[in-house]
Amino acid sequence: MTKLKGKSVYQSIAVGPILRWNKQEIEITDEKITDAEAEIVRVKEAIEQAKAQLGKLYDKAVVEVGEESAAIFEVHQMMLEDDDYLDTIFNMIREECRNAVYAVEAAGNQFSAIFAAMDDDYMRARSADIKDISNRVVRILAGEEDVDLTNMEPSIIVADDLSPSETVQLDKSKILAFVTFFAIIILHILAFVTVHGSTNSHTAILARMMNIPALVNVPMDLNKLHTGMNAIVDGILGEVAFEPTEEEMNTAKSRVEEEKEKLRVLSCMKGQATVSKSGKRINLYANIGNVDDVSYVLENDAEGIGLFRSEFLYLGRDRLPSEEEQFEAYKKVVSAMNGKKVIIRTLDIGADKKADYLHLDKEENPALGYRAIRICLTQKDIFKTQLRALFRAATYGNLAVMYPMIISTEEVLEIKQFVTAVEAELKAEGTEYRIPEQGIMIETPAAVMMSNELAEMVDFFSIGTNDLTQYTLAIDRQNEKLDAFYDAHHPAVLRMIQMVIDSAHAHGIWAGICGELGADMELTERFLAMGIDELSVAPSAILKIRKRIREAE
Ligand code: PEP
Ligand code: MG
Repeated sequence: MTKLKGKSVYQSIAVGPILRWNKQEIEITDEKITDAEAEIVRVKEAIEQAKAQLGKLYDKAVVEVGEESAAIFEVHQMMLEDDDYLDTIFNMIREECRNAVYAVEAAGNQFSAIFAAMDDDYMRARSADIKDISNRVVRILAGEEDVDLTNMEPSIIVADDLSPSETVQLDKSKILAFVTFFAIIILHILAFVTVHGSTNSHTAILARMMNIPALVNVPMDLNKLHTGMNAIVDGILGEVAFEPTEEEMNTAKSRVEEEKEKLRVLSCMKGQATVSKSGKRINLYANIGNVDDVSYVLENDAEGIGLFRSEFLYLGRDRLPSEEEQFEAYKKVVSAMNGKKVIIRTLDIGADKKADYLHLDKEENPALGYRAIRICLTQKDIFKTQLRALFRAATYGNLAVMYPMIISTEEVLEIKQFVTAVEAELKAEGTEYRIPEQGIMIETPAAVMMSNELAEMVDFFSIGTNDLTQYTLAIDRQNEKLDAFYDAHHPAVLRMIQMVIDSAHAHGIWAGICGELGADMELTERFLAMGIDELSVAPSAILKIRKRIREAE
């Protein structure tokens, strides 16, 4: 057995086979070739292999979801036989001396752009299929391990790193759909373990949300690990063991049962009020990243949703979500919460959360860069579309909106102009809408220092301690080397929180915390003493925090 230490993101235990997750960028170089025919043979062989993989997927999908839904794999197989597509690849190799990987990637991009520009919705959607089949062939050509996922048991994902857009694809009630846009063949995720990654990253936050143990920063040699190998992930001790003995597996399995038992005991907190012994009541809300997470919120008896990171609707896809798609998603969440508050944060993309289709420039300092409200205030259509969807969905329940990364009163005034314009548009069209309660995130030192003025302009404050800590301490939250310096209990951060609460109360509005610090139980009593009104935490933390608050003075 090999045991390795890592940084734990969520304190729980899992036992099971591993799945090597290989979805990293493949480096595509334009290195010229000399033997075109040999390169063409390579492409032909890779295409045959891709067709065989698709055949297997088709057979499995027919059994799981029926012939109609499985047909997509036949379509993919047919696309790989398309003469125009193949000729384009072969011509690039023969006439331009391109290497196989480059030619397949370039042909894929070329054809997918042609389809993306078509008027017909059905044809436009095929653009993603072309990208998908080209990716499959590129990965085979790059020698990526062909994992037969069709017979996998619930698994532990092992990867070099996972980006938020990859993790969001994993976050489907702990189910991995490994056909990107067709959740056909599914795999239950038990845990994930990565070589890189910081405990403060969005990927770590998602693991907490998914309620699964996760370790980052584990010095593993991925070449020595293979899909199917057993492992124990111990998020409590912060270690992972590969190839444990049967006895070790059994011990770990009984610890898994003990953890489940602890959760069962905590479930007596469901339905109880979140109130301290001295009668201080806290709104205990949950953070979510997508519509499916609502089930965790309800399961853990959260009193509302304090942060719906709407940007995850924009990730892991190849175009902006339409107003209708967003409206449906928000409406679903608000309706499911049945009158309980749902605070939806407007798009906070940029920094580590990237969407290729936005074509954002690579930046020297992305955390200090073009992100969040800065994108929304400059890409007006994106912002207006989201506001329209939000105001329409607000008629279905207790929806509130909050804006991220605010640094000034001018920004809030500009947002208000957008709100007025969108309202006028909806009114003129006769579309049903409601202007909801609106707040801002306090996650920059500038917003803290301006909190007195800002409090006059909005309905509530939600303190984003993840970014507030990053900007106050000048520590990049993505940089794993700085985890030891990222002291969220730093007096500077705690004083800022106090200042924000005081400013809010002086103007009769409420203040909450939706950053990860809100779930830090060492600080729960302190937050109560500071006068916090709301805590919004991962759904898995709700019951523990309720217990802590009920035991506090
Ligand atoms: C925060 O910064 O604390 C926050 C809640 O937002 P995010 O983690 O998504 O940046
Ligand atoms: Mg933030």
